[in-house]
Amino acid sequence: MNRYKLLTPGPLTTTSTVRNVMNEDRCTWDDEYKEITQIIRKQLLQIAGVSEEKYTAVLMQGSGSFVVESVLTTAVRPSDKVLFITNGAYGERMVQMATTIGLSHTQYETPYGEAVDAADIAAILQQDSAITHVAMVHCETTTGILNPIEAVIAVAKQQNKQVIIDAMSSFGGVPIDVSALQIDYLVSSANKCIQGVPGFGFVIANTERLAACKGVARSVSLDLYDQWQAMKVDGKWRFTSPTHVVAAFAQALIELQQEGGVAARYKRYAASNSYLRKEMQAMGFEPYIDEAHQSPIITSYFYPNEGFEFTAFYEAIKQKGFVLYPGKLTDADTFRIGNIGDIHLADIQQLVIAIKEYMGVEVS
Ligand SMILES: *Cc1c(COP(=O)(O)O)cnc(C)c1O
Repeated sequence: MNRYKLLTPGPLTTTSTVRNVMNEDRCTWDDEYKEITQIIRKQLLQIAGVSEEKYTAVLMQGSGSFVVESVLTTAVRPSDKVLFITNGAYGERMVQMATTIGLSHTQYETPYGEAVDAADIAAILQQDSAITHVAMVHCETTTGILNPIEAVIAVAKQQNKQVIIDAMSSFGGVPIDVSALQIDYLVSSANKCIQGVPGFGFVIANTERLAACKGVARSVSLDLYDQWQAMKVDGKWRFTSPTHVVAAFAQALIELQQEGGVAARYKRYAASNSYLRKEMQAMGFEPYIDEAHQSPIITSYFYPNEGFEFTAFYEAIKQKGFVLYPGKLTDADTFRIGNIGDIHLADIQQLVIAIKEYMGVEVS
């Protein structure tokens, strides 16, 4: 039983049916369990809208960052160079990983509240022909901005670059045409829009690209190529897999399908988010991201006035059954409200009532 609903970017509120399948212990070696992994891999490709001939799905233990790092260490050779396009903490984390691994790289930063202009990227790629890979975040969960990956990828593909997308907080909740965009590596994790519990992430990888990555990784545990080689045989993971989490994820995928797939989930998220934005604005909460660039996942708000105390606000709203999320910006006082997970418009309506009461706004 949940005591409150998480309005966070993940781990998030899951259904009791997803949590219940974790009541059973499973053996990693057992055929029935290995089959769960194979089904998950197939379904992820379907959600991504890619063919089994061209793409493969590889699951990897750890939180989402582990999986991003596994792609960077496996897919980028010493002779390659990555352009990181960043406007938030998750883009910056990729740069930190590249620095630690020792990858040749360059970074193009825009302010946190602004989306990148694809024309700028075209110019950079034109000037620096050493760049082989372009990496960026789709929904920057730091602020909730939805970056225009379509335009940037088009530019990168025109110049034959490999593309790595951190779609951690958008995949499954925002339609992404991986095939048409020709994304080479797309990364997401179990505990975001697919609405599973935390413990592993996954990569939708162009098979031909990944097949060329043997021996490139500078890490044993994070070697995505080796993980794929082991997993593709019969669904057995290298090393211990998070069995309970994997089973819960399989159930979450069934529930995504029952809801009507990504399009339906997107619609639910968007409806909750637009209602939230409208009501918060009416109460004097200014969003950090403008409407045109706002994702339907999570919204950052400035503190409404000088005297606003987030901790007191947080505690009061928690008493009403909702857990909010602090901000992640250094230059402004903000907090965040997520609306992904098993959260419906009725929940957001309840939340709005709770916030109105706290703010002393008359509840109509
Ligand atoms: C959640 C998230 C990650 C991964 O974070 P972990 O804490 O490692 O799971 C990476 N990128 C984005 C955009 C995210 O939202």
